[in-house]
Amino acid sequence: MQNLIVANWKMNPVSLEEAKKLFNSIKEKMGDVKSEVVVCPPFIYLAELKGLTLGAQDIFYEEKGAFTGEVSGEMLKSVGIDYVIIGHSERRKYFSETDEVINEKIKKALGTGLKVIFCIGETQEQHDNEEKYKVLENQIKKGLDGIENLKFKIENLAIAYEPVWAIGTGNNCSVDETKESINFIKNLVPNVRVLYGGSVKSKNSGEYIKNAGANGLLVGGASLNAEEFIKIVKSAE
Ligand code: PEP
Repeated sequence: MQNLIVANWKMNPVSLEEAKKLFNSIKEKMGDVKSEVVVCPPFIYLAELKGLTLGAQDIFYEEKGAFTGEVSGEMLKSVGIDYVIIGHSERRKYFSETDEVINEKIKKALGTGLKVIFCIGETQEQHDNEEKYKVLENQIKKGLDGIENLKFKIENLAIAYEPVWAIGTGNNCSVDETKESINFIKNLVPNVRVLYGGSVKSKNSGEYIKNAGANGLLVGGASLNAEEFIKIVKSAE
């Protein structure tokens, strides 16, 4: 299974000029790597960046029409986008995305031929209340409901385990706990690639691949620094 390393730029950087500079710097420093590397910039920059595999940070579940502000899978495909992140905890939190909406988006994306990075993870409170496995199972069952009726390759689906308490906090999940969560997810969804995300830095990234059984990483903050991101990519080799 090829490792998948994903850069989630979130709502950064603030100009096209800076986005091109960061993208080109990652591209130049990359060299030959065995992993599949995907960069996910904001929508507005997607059609402007060339030379690395690209992903969007969201999608809408209709093809076209009166849905102001939304972008469809067909539109993404038409500008050469391969991947889409769906169900990120920031979308669940700030944009009230429910498991049902996420499920519609996943079905639409897979049906359109896009590759999906489906994010799941428990909050601090759920973690403290020992509800993690219940939450993960529920998110997976609802998020992937009905996908067995679609024609798609399992390689087109990756699940990113991202504990919400670990995202952007510097408090990354321990390797042992990540390993348990990854095994739990792999038991529920056989043959799927499972990534880890949550305060990944070059000093901890290799451990998740080598010792926690992750098939890749979803990197937020650290992907905004080309040198640091490349170190993370190389640590997965
Ligand atoms: C993310 O955006 O998915 C993420 C994991 O962010 P960070 O690496 O900054 O914690």
